Parts: sequence; structure tokens; C-alpha cells
Amino acid sequence: MYDISIIGGGPVGMFAAFYAGLRNADAHLIETLPHLGGQVAALYPEKDVYDVAGFPHIKAKELVAQLADQLTEFSPAISLNTTVEKITKEADETFTIITNHGDYHSRAVVIAIGNGAFAPRKLAFKYDHKLDDRQVHYFINNLEDFRDQNVTVAGGGDSAIDWALALEPIAKSVTIIHRRDQFRGLESSVEKMKASSIKIMTPYLLSGLAPAGKQIEIQLKKARTKEETTVLTDQLIVNYGFTADARILRQFPIEIQGATVPVDTHMATSTDRIYAIGDVVTYPGKMQLIASGFGEAPVAVTQALQQVYPERKQPLHSTSLIH
Ligand SMILES: Cc1cc2nc3c(=O)[nH]c(=O)nc-3n(C[C@H](O)[C@H](O)[C@H](O)COP(=O)(O)OP(=O)(O)OC[C@H]3O[C@@H](n4cnc5c(N)ncnc54)[C@H](O)[C@@H]3O)c2cc1C
Repeated sequence: MYDISIIGGGPVGMFAAFYAGLRNADAHLIETLPHLGGQVAALYPEKDVYDVAGFPHIKAKELVAQLADQLTEFSPAISLNTTVEKITKEADETFTIITNHGDYHSRAVVIAIGNGAFAPRKLAFKYDHKLDDRQVHYFINNLEDFRDQNVTVAGGGDSAIDWALALEPIAKSVTIIHRRDQFRGLESSVEKMKASSIKIMTPYLLSGLAPAGKQIEIQLKKARTKEETTVLTDQLIVNYGFTADARILRQFPIEIQGATVPVDTHMATSTDRIYAIGDVVTYPGKMQLIASGFGEAPVAVTQALQQVYPERKQPLHSTSLIH
């Protein structure tokens, strides 16, 4: 039984999990993706962020790394690759958090799901999904898995270019395929890619794939033409961005307003001991900013702990808490 379960491992959920540790709470952070960082890590890792207090500017992925480092101070339980599907309130005022990997129990809940559960945008055509994670990848966990292999990257954004550049010195060959002639990545990264040995194929759309011996054959259509071609590769990495799904909110025992959760000044939802913070909440004047979420996290965690352990008294300042 956890004191506080935080649903969503974006920047705001990460800071809430740290703050719960600071307040001696037994915390559990649950994230659907295989990595923490929410929108910051998934959508704009290479961008500079200018409005986080204390940092004149910081690269988005560096901010996530700092948050992860801060989290290790109290090492809360972290469940990655875990999607919360439902929350039920039990007769003893605790909660059962139902996930795709089993149930967890908690005395209080902090919802920090942002715009909803992230999932990688998948290939739109039919193919044998047995290839997933073996030869077709939507995430990369270890670059070494691709050593001395022919790798094809599909996509035209920062992440696709970053993966292609990171793989170039390791893989036997790297090909990048994008449906437009222009890439959406940082200009400097695009230049670096053009100057590298990465083979660039544009404007091509992936239209199918099939096993071909030990390799896979990718079928391609040239945009706005009837031209078709194929590419043989050992590994395909698909980097088409992410979709977010907030419908899960309907499975939580709280009042919602569209894809948002109305909260009061304590970040409390309509249900006792369930709080919400970050981009998912709405209140007059709410701003969907990291800084706002960072302000909301201590309020929610402190209020939750006061409800769970009313007898506990703790100093307000971290300078008095950490020894
Ligand atoms: C392009 C872009 C640029 C931006 N630039 C700035 C900026 O310069 N400054 C700034 O302050 N803000 C910026 N923002 C906004 C900022 O990223 C958000 O305010 C911030 O990410 C909100 O954090 P969060 O933790 O509330 O939600 P998110 O970052 O959305 O994280 C929520 C996490 O919860 C997970 N989740 C959702 N549902 C479930 C579930 N059912 N089970 C398990 N996990 C779940 C999601 O997968 C996700 O990882 C920008 C946003 C974008 C898109």
C-alpha cells in the first residue's frame, strides 16, 4: 500500500514524486511510456526552455535528466511501460489503481496525466506485428542492439534525425526516409546528417513491409507520383511522433470537464484524496506551463499527506528537512 500514487511521469509528476519523498511519503510513480519526461522528453527534447525558474535556459532533455537525478534522492517506486486503466475507491477510503500490469493500492492519488497517455504513432498499413521489437521498433532502448546492422529510420523530426545520427557510427548503414523533402529537425542536425554517410530518401511514404529472408523489405511510394520502390533493411525504426489519449479520465472516480480535471486551490478534485496537477487540470487562470505544474505539485502532495496522516507535522522548508 503506497501513501501516494502519482499517475503520469511527465515533468510535473516527476517533481511530485520527488516532493512526496521529501515529505517521507511512500510514493509510486506510474508512466505508460518506457521513459519519464512526458511532453518534454517525447515532443521537444532538443528545444531550449527559457521559463523554468533557476535556469536561464535549459535543453528540454537536460531538464528531464535533472528531474530524474532529483528523483533518485528518495528513490520512489517507478513503474514504466504501465498504463493506468481505472481507479476505484474502496470502502476503507483507499484506492485500487488498475493497470495493464496488475493492481496497486494507495491511500491517495495525484493525477498528472497531462494531455493523456502517450503512445507512439504506428505504421498505418497492415503488417505482421510479430516483427515489433524484433525488426520494427517504435522505441530504442539500447543503441548497441543495432551494431553492424543495416538500419532504416522512418520520420523527419528531431528524434528521427537524432536516432539516425546516433546510429551512424554504430550501424553498418543508416537510411532515413521522410515523406517531405524538408526535414523538421534542428537546422544544425539536418546539416550534420547531410554531411554524414546517412542515406537520405525523400519524399517517400512507407506503404508496406514484409519479411525477406532474415531482412525486411520496405515498400515505398514516392509522394505525388506513381513511382514505387523497395528498401531491404535489417531493422526499421519508426519515429512518427506520439498521440495522446485522455479518455482514460472517464475511468477515474472524479468529475471531469472534457479532457481536463477541475480542481480547487488545494489541487483537490471532486473526490476526497484524489488530487490533480499539471496540464490536465483546470481552474481560473490555469496556465499549461512546467513552472505552473511545479508550483501545483507541493500543494497537492502536502494536502494529500495531511489527509492521510493528519497527525504528522513537518517543517515547511526543505532546508530543514534534508540532512
Ligand atoms: C512543443 C512544445 C513546447 C513547449 N514549450 C514549453 C516551454 O517552453 N515552457 C513551458 O513551461 N512549457 C512548455 N510546453 C508545455 C509543457 O511541456 C507542459 O506544460 C508540461 O509537459 C506538462 O507536464 P505534465 O507532467 O503535466 O504533463 P505531460 O508532460 O503531458 O506528462 C504526462 C505524462 O503522463 C503519462 N500518462 C498519461 N496517461 C497515463 C496513464 N493512464 N497511465 C500512465 N501514464 C499516463 C503520459 O504518457 C505522459 O508521459 C511545451 C509543450 C509543447 C508541446
